[in-house]
Amino acid sequence: MGLRLFNTLSRSVQDFVPLDPAGKKIGMYCCGPTVYDFAHIGNWRTFIFGDLVRRYLEFKGYTVQRVMNITDVEDKIIKRVQETQTPLREFTARFETAFFNDLKTLNCRMPHQTPRASEHIPEIVALIEKLLARGLAYRTADGSVYFSIEKYRAGGAQYGQLVKLNFDEMRVGERVRSDEYAKEAVADFALWKGRVPEDGAVFWPSPWGEGRPGWHIECSAMSMKLLGPSFDLHLGGEDLMFPHHEDEIAQSEGAGVQLPGGRFVQHWLHGAHLLVEGRKMAKSLGNFFTLRDLLAKGFTGREIRCALLTAHYRETFNFTLEGLQAARAALARIDDCLRKLRELAAPAKEPADPPLLGQFAEALDDDLNVSAAWGAIFEAARETNRKLSENAMDATAAAGALATWDRLDSVLGVGAPQEVAVPPEIQTLLDARQAARKARDFKRADAVRDELKAKGWVIEDTPKGARVKRL
Ligand SMILES: [Zn+2]
Repeated sequence: MGLRLFNTLSRSVQDFVPLDPAGKKIGMYCCGPTVYDFAHIGNWRTFIFGDLVRRYLEFKGYTVQRVMNITDVEDKIIKRVQETQTPLREFTARFETAFFNDLKTLNCRMPHQTPRASEHIPEIVALIEKLLARGLAYRTADGSVYFSIEKYRAGGAQYGQLVKLNFDEMRVGERVRSDEYAKEAVADFALWKGRVPEDGAVFWPSPWGEGRPGWHIECSAMSMKLLGPSFDLHLGGEDLMFPHHEDEIAQSEGAGVQLPGGRFVQHWLHGAHLLVEGRKMAKSLGNFFTLRDLLAKGFTGREIRCALLTAHYRETFNFTLEGLQAARAALARIDDCLRKLRELAAPAKEPADPPLLGQFAEALDDDLNVSAAWGAIFEAARETNRKLSENAMDATAAAGALATWDRLDSVLGVGAPQEVAVPPEIQTLLDARQAARKARDFKRADAVRDELKAKGWVIEDTPKGARVKRL
């Protein structure tokens, strides 16, 4: 069975078939952070979900081009820029840097491209010009440009592909200027917003006068520039379905840049919401967590990543500190099993064990069923521990099990516990102690051991030789 994924466009699980005729290359766009604050744990759930999709596609042998934009021009940012009286770039740079650091802490593979909206104004202007030329956009007296839903629908296109919309209530030509609005407020949306005093210094020249882009057009312009007018996968949190993604489809397909019959995006994937301790996250409830809040509580990036990968991406996930403890315990079980395997394993690389890999792939092929994938892994770990305790596993089998884990972890990315680097001075002492033992100078060996201890390191003798670890 090949990979099957739920497609929001069809509201059904479909075979995933790449657009590339060779079936090899995949273009994937994920809506990235709006850099006006630190990303919270709900945002991280979506970004880790995007990382899982990319890693699993790579595991299956595809060549993935993953683009994640940086939204650095939009209503909330401009408001904060005005409040803090900081230049736009200076304000966003701080949160952008924090975002990339957090991405690393959570062991997400770096997207291949991370375009900033502020650096794609010419592409955005060109796309709006196409929509104007096709009669799907119109200018207003304040120097703005709006997308006409009426004209778009009159041409036979469907507005409301990802969500069902009720057009009976809609008044033709009514406009919405803000980047975010509810389904009930469906109206012509802003492609370009004419400059107003509240924008401060955030504006660019355009054929329609000074102003700035609407949020939705940014993603259409950047995704099509880097991935072409039609690409395979577009991901985001379910809160982005409307209006953001719906508007992206209308703008991108309205521009008529696809081949006849071609779509802007083949497959839309949306990650579900996250609750914290059973409730919607809110600063006022004290259940609002950024990554740094959780790190400050003593959790590690891999524990947080593991917790966020326990639930299916389309299920609302209840994130709890208890769940983080459970992730810590689960990882400790895996680490313990891996440590024993490493002590036993033959040095030669062994091929990965096919049955577990097969079960893992079967689970993830089924719309990324992570629960079944973890189930197979823990079952295998139990079985391995049983064999190890009965001395029923040889060095070759242990090496094979380790190779299997490496393959699985290329998708899960929960990695190894952070090994503390051994300083050269400590390594020299360890070598001296080993040399003394070899020369049967046990007095000297013990003296070096004590010296290491005084410096905070303890020697562990293992079947593979001696190593040091922090006291
Ligand atoms: Zn977007």
